[in-house]
Amino acid sequence: MMHIYPGALHIHTHHSDGTGSFPEVIAAARAAGLRWIIVTDHDTLVGRSFAGWHDDLLVIVDYEITPDRNHFLALNVDQVVDNALAPQDFVDEVYQRGGFGIIAHPDEQIRNSFKDIYRWDDWAIDGPRQRDGHTVGLELWNLMSDWGEHLTQRNKVLNVFIPRLGLSGPTPATLHWWDRLNMHGRRTFGVGGVDVHAFKHRVPWGTIEVFPYRWMFGTLTNYLLLDTPLAASNAQQATQQVYTALAGGHSYFANRLDGEADAALFYATRDDQRWNIGDSPTVAAGPLTLVADVGRRALVQLIYNGRILARGKRTLCQQVNAPGIYRLEAYHGGRPWLYTNPIFIH
Ligand SMILES: [Zn+2]
Ligand SMILES: [Zn+2]
Repeated sequence: MMHIYPGALHIHTHHSDGTGSFPEVIAAARAAGLRWIIVTDHDTLVGRSFAGWHDDLLVIVDYEITPDRNHFLALNVDQVVDNALAPQDFVDEVYQRGGFGIIAHPDEQIRNSFKDIYRWDDWAIDGPRQRDGHTVGLELWNLMSDWGEHLTQRNKVLNVFIPRLGLSGPTPATLHWWDRLNMHGRRTFGVGGVDVHAFKHRVPWGTIEVFPYRWMFGTLTNYLLLDTPLAASNAQQATQQVYTALAGGHSYFANRLDGEADAALFYATRDDQRWNIGDSPTVAAGPLTLVADVGRRALVQLIYNGRILARGKRTLCQQVNAPGIYRLEAYHGGRPWLYTNPIFIH
């Protein structure tokens, strides 16, 4: 029996450049139906006192290492690592302290009135020097970054009111990087980050908020797949369960603006055995069948080592006998909607 927990990560409060308080963020996340959130203010853990269960919402407080560029979400670390270190050095420091992390908004290209370029400069840095089986995360899709990159003087009013016009999903370069890393044995898990700040802008008719927490929590949602339910009476244990599922790539994410994705399925099977997203079955004992059902009308693509292997409408069933990296993408109404982490077949 698998347990699916929707949650959001990459969240800012007024402890850095967000506008909301923890109680506001928590109320918004609960209203959006999330079961866990990871708050990542800039270079501070001052919000840690809010970590723990808040009714049925697990609040995890980590931080984002934020030099001028090269931002890194540092997870499961008890001290704030110096953001003046070179990127390779702060990544190493996070892992040496027992943590792990996620490379944030790696592929920013555009500077405009709304944002600067905060890209990950050196893509040769893709994790700690001492890899030792550790995994690293890649923020494949950052909602505010995607939206901000599309903003122009001409479209800005329209895009504030119809935000999805300013979204195009993960960049091809980011997806290629991710696939290449996994093909070369550098285990990298993908996530969608909201990067919510709820910036308030004064306009002639009042104030607009780009975008409120409650709305943002209805966008990029990461669904964790767990064998056992989150420990309801032990927040520390539940937090470790979230970290383990993320680091192991036992998750997928979707933009809920284009539909809920809590019924999505992607697994490998042979006889009565089954392997889920993030697992590593072998074809040495015979071919496997990959089965997908995203739960709603959507174009489904099975990606094998970075290339489209098969397409389907809502469902897909493909026998495979070659080792490699198999993952799923789904498009709803032509819009990028859902991305799973790979099943690693060896
Ligand atoms: Zn950032
Ligand atoms: Zn951020």
